[in-house]
Amino acid sequence: VTQENTVSRWAAENALGASDATIRKMFELGMKMRRESSEPVYDLSLGNPHLEPPGRWRSAAIELLQTEPPGQHRYMPNAGFQAVRAFVAERESRRFGLAVTADDVVMTVGAAGGLAIVLRSLLDPEDELLTPAPYFTEYAQYARIVGARLVAVPTLPDFRLDLAAIEAAITPRTRVVLIDSPNNPTGAMYTDEDLAALAALLRRAGAGGAKERSRPLYVVEDSPYRDLVFDGTTAPSILPHYDDTIHVTSHSKDLGLAGERIGHVLVSPRAAGREALHRALPFANRVLGFVNAPALMQRLLPHVLAHPDGKVDAGAYAANARALAAGLIELGFDVVPPRAGMFVFPRLPAAWFTAFGPNPDVELVRRLTERRTLVVPGGVFGRAGHVRIALCVTPPEVAGALEAFRAVCSAPLP
Ligand code: PLP
Repeated sequence: VTQENTVSRWAAENALGASDATIRKMFELGMKMRRESSEPVYDLSLGNPHLEPPGRWRSAAIELLQTEPPGQHRYMPNAGFQAVRAFVAERESRRFGLAVTADDVVMTVGAAGGLAIVLRSLLDPEDELLTPAPYFTEYAQYARIVGARLVAVPTLPDFRLDLAAIEAAITPRTRVVLIDSPNNPTGAMYTDEDLAALAALLRRAGAGGAKERSRPLYVVEDSPYRDLVFDGTTAPSILPHYDDTIHVTSHSKDLGLAGERIGHVLVSPRAAGREALHRALPFANRVLGFVNAPALMQRLLPHVLAHPDGKVDAGAYAANARALAAGLIELGFDVVPPRAGMFVFPRLPAAWFTAFGPNPDVELVRRLTERRTLVVPGGVFGRAGHVRIALCVTPPEVAGALEAFRAVCSAPLP
């Protein structure tokens, strides 16, 4: 008996295989380094929110628990509490200018739980899931677990959508286009014009493929960073432009509640198969084992989100982004300033490509790790030659990480 043949082939290949998440490993390495020495560790690897949830969330939680009637912690419909779904539907209707109903909303175990039920409900084995690259690494696993094929289409060098490349990559098997804006790992936020153009090309592809295509071409819009926009504007969405859209989001980031697991899925009221999705998504929530989103977290949302101070201050992330961009540009990195979210994704200076070939990010990460500074190689996200740096740290940690970058970049290269 080997370790590998005790578990399923899927677990052997993925959980025990080389493809297991580098990012989690970096996070664990950071914790180990902290245990073993009291020297500071600058861990800018994981998008783990460092800002506390808003004070309003804490006081609402205490008050709810002290004053609630009995029966608030039991099973409920798999889609979530009706009153919470109605609140979310009303808020999303205003945001997107659509007539969203409570039936279009399913409360989920974060955005990850939302993506799990949406992809399970839409994809069959051998279907293609198209996504712009660089992309959130877990997408590869989410595709694999339903037997679908992830087709990564490179974005332009400044991380805007390459619409022509997307159009060329669509085949009769393309079932879902998965977009992530504001983006992890790049901090890019797709413009309203680009989203309208993407919608137009998908309508063409959908209609053009009508002979072969008997099923709709859906957009799944993953948007957990939508309320961490640095200039105070609202992140554009493809929902107003493209009918067959399913929007997925969470409060892991805007409320700093990643550990509490609360988010939702919104089916466009104009989507083909809307009624089928109303039934499929709660069913998937049930049988994938989520059952329903956490009850207390659901009930807290209307008490927090209805207020302007009911979110964390994205200014802290924006300030870190500015400091990192300035420091890295001085060292010769190419930086596309992030417009939102929790990450910056700089390209290494040309000298590193000359010295180490097309994947110099791995060597840079190794050298930074020796200086107790953790970032993630870009290859993990489908774009080598870059590193992903998380912004969810304190300004002294940014300063410490920049010191390590300076030391590593001033050492001679082979
Ligand atoms: N989608 C993207 C792009 C993410 O970056 C993350 C988390 O980092 C998720 C989904 C999952 O978020 P959640 O914690 O809400 O499940």
